[in-house]
Formats: sequence, C-alpha cells, structure tokens
Amino acid sequence: MGEKIKLENGILKIPNQPIIPFIVGDGIGRDISKPAQRVLDAAVEKAYGSSRKLVWKEVLAGEKAFKATGQHLPDETIASFKEYLVGIKGPLETPVGGGIRSLNVALRQTLDLYVCLRPVRWFKGVPSPIRYPSMVDMHIFRENTEDIYAGIEFMTGEENTTRFRDFLVQEMGVSSEIRFPESSSFGVKPISKEGSERLVRAAIHYAIKRNLPSVTLVHKGNIMKFTEGAFKTWSYDLAESEFTNQVFTWRQYQQIEQDKGQLDAQKALEEAKKSGKVVVQDVITDAFLQDSLLHPFNHSVIATMNLNGDYISDQLAAMVGGIGISPGANINYQSGYAIFEATHGTAPTIAGTGKANPSSLILSGVMMLEYLGWDEAAEHVFDAMEHTFAKRRVTSDLHAMMESSTLMSTAEFADEIIRNI
Ligand code: NAD
Repeated sequence: MGEKIKLENGILKIPNQPIIPFIVGDGIGRDISKPAQRVLDAAVEKAYGSSRKLVWKEVLAGEKAFKATGQHLPDETIASFKEYLVGIKGPLETPVGGGIRSLNVALRQTLDLYVCLRPVRWFKGVPSPIRYPSMVDMHIFRENTEDIYAGIEFMTGEENTTRFRDFLVQEMGVSSEIRFPESSSFGVKPISKEGSERLVRAAIHYAIKRNLPSVTLVHKGNIMKFTEGAFKTWSYDLAESEFTNQVFTWRQYQQIEQDKGQLDAQKALEEAKKSGKVVVQDVITDAFLQDSLLHPFNHSVIATMNLNGDYISDQLAAMVGGIGISPGANINYQSGYAIFEATHGTAPTIAGTGKANPSSLILSGVMMLEYLGWDEAAEHVFDAMEHTFAKRRVTSDLHAMMESSTLMSTAEFADEIIRNI
C-alpha cells in the first residue's frame, strides 16, 4: 500500500497515496498521535474522496524505540525519513544522561533540516493575553543548524577550555574583553553566509508564494557585528540580487533617502507595495519582541537565527494561545526532507489522562498537507478547527481560561473537529 514521495529536478512528486512515516512520540505523544491522524484522514477523504489517501507508516524513536531496539533514535528511523522525504512526529523526551543531547536536534542535524517554520495565527475564541489577537498572522523562519546551538561550548576549568582561552589571549590578542578569564566558560557562535542565504531565500520564496507583504530580518547586529550583523548584510545582498524585481528592501529605502531625500524614499516604498513587491526590512531583536506585541500587523514573515528564533517562537505562540496549539515544521527545501512536529514537549504530568490538546500536531499535519500541495484538505481541517474553537469546545488547557466553554477529552475534541469537517 502506498508509494514514495520523490524529488525530481528539485520538484516534489506527490503520489495519490504517499507513504508518511510518523513517530508517535513519548508522553502525550501517545495520546495525540492517533486522534491527529484521524482528523487528517477525514479531511483528505472529504476533499478527494477515495482518490487520495495518506498511508501512515510508524517509525520508532524515543522510549518506544529504546525498548524495542536499545537505541533512542535507530538508524532505520533516519533511513525512513530519507527514503520517504516527508514525515511527522510527536514530542520526544530528551533522554537524561544519554549520548544524544536531544533527539529532535539529532534529527534536524542528520537531515540538515535548516528551516524551522512556525506559522502563528489566532483562532477566534481562543484566549489571548493581547488586545487584538486577530491581527497576528506571522510566519517564523528560524535557522535550525547554526548559531550558539551548534553545541561548541567549553566548560570552565576543563583542559580544552584553558587551551581555548590561551589561544584567544595569546594568539588572537583578546584579553581585556574577557572580564574573568580564569573562571570563564566559552561558547562559539557560527553564523555563515551560506546558512543565512538559504534561510532567507526560503523565507522570501514563501512570502512571494503566499502573497505576504513583508519579510522582517530579526538580528542583534548592533552588538554582534560579524555574526548577526553579517546575517543582516548577507540577507539584504541576497534579497536584492536574487529577487531584484520581487522585493524592495529597507536598505534601498535608506539609500534613496540619503541620495534624494525622505519624500522620494517614501514614494519608492509606496510604489513597491502597490506593485506587490515584498518589503524586506530589519529590526533589532529586543525592539522586535516589543513591536510584535504592540503592532503585530507590522510583521508577516520573520527570518532569524537559531537563538532569536527560539525565543520569538514561544513569545508569538503565547500571543495566540500557547504551545498547545502552535504547529511547526523542520524543512530542507533542497533535498525536500521535511518533518512536521508538535512544538510542545511530552507533558509527562498529563500523559494518559485525556487532557492533552492535539491541536499542535493536527495543525502541523495541516502544514504537511500544504507542503504536499493538498490545500483543499488543509483548508477543511483549518475551517473545522476554527468552528470548533468558536463553539468553545476545547481541551482542559484552554477550558480553564475560556468562560462557558465545554470541556472535551483529547479524543472527543478530535471527534468534534471531524464532525465539523
Ligand atoms: P512541555 O511542553 O512538555 O510542557 C510545558 C507545559 O505545557 C506543561 O504544563 C504541560 O502540561 C503543558 N502542555 C504541553 N503540551 C500540551 C498539550 N498539547 N496540551 C495541554 N498541555 C500541554 O515542556 P517540558 O515540561 O519543558 O518538557 C517535557 C519533556 O518534553 C522534556 O523531556 C523535553 O526535553 C521534551 N520536549 C520535547 C520537545 C519536542 O519533542 N519537540 C519540545 C519541548 C520539550
């Protein structure tokens, strides 16, 4: 049953019955996996009848894999994601004291899934801490393979750390910059031109394809000039050279302003917007965290490095109802590899109680349907969820914050969405 998705000349070829590897996940992964699949199957059936179908293929990771194979992330699982290209996963517990720092990081690194994509949208009725949540429609492109997350760290007191410090002081002439050299630990922050370019290229393509008005580059280049500052420069260079006729950059605005004055710059910006160009702008990270709260409509697609992206994802998710309903995907647009995933963890304290909200995994499935080009099915799920939230039928995490809402278990909530499809 089912066929493999293939990549031919850079284009995904989707069969009518694609085989989709899935990891159930640990903790509440076991509670949300099946309900999410039921919802996605119902939407595909509604959209295409029996002509299309997702063929689910379980692959092991986490505790279940460890029990069966003695490994938390068996080679076979990685091989399956490579073979079938597109898959989905529930949350995985990070094994304590194991050789792998995080199974999620291992998957991202092994498959070089350099984009972590998190769309952030509010559903009517879902409690939000901000005044105008309906204005939130942001799409985060977080770089997934570089930055301080590369894991190049040296603990104070260890031999390598002393060698590293001595190299900095003796060979690189860095001394006064290290305030307490004897007790310092160190971390290295690699940010590359290639890494920045492939992320921003993907972000601009996404904005163009979806008719989104802007791409905001978020960085702390005023302080970290050669890493985050270079990210900004490389990103603008790429936008202006590869998307010459499709974007207008804030750097171009500033150039016109300097040469001809503010009126001309403003005119050029208005014309660019009118002609449907994507405005590429940049904002310093701390200002972005404030502005995205106060004026969410200023930002549409957000392209940023790993650490900024991590913080930003959680803030924006909190603005629309929390991680229980925020979807995510890790993608390599060259190889086609993509793993869609619930963005929350394993929530061990509620595992097995029927309290888990399956929305994050379901919406990750919606992203997967869109990635396959099955937009009609994706829309069915989306509309049905909107309807379900509007009727105030929710799982316990939202029930506690939503007046006169009806409490539903994980499975009941999924059934309600299916009824609304
Ligand atoms: P968590 O996301 O599991 O839980 C944080 C809080 O949110 C808890 O109160 C939990 O009950 C609640 N919560 C999370 N998802 C929910 C849902 N779908 N419905 C209702 N409530 C939900 O984060 P944590 O406690 O820091 O981490 C627990 C484990 O998960 C750790 O082992 C961690 O490494 C792992 N983790 C995995 C991923 C992943 O696989 N992508 C992400 C984050 C954490």
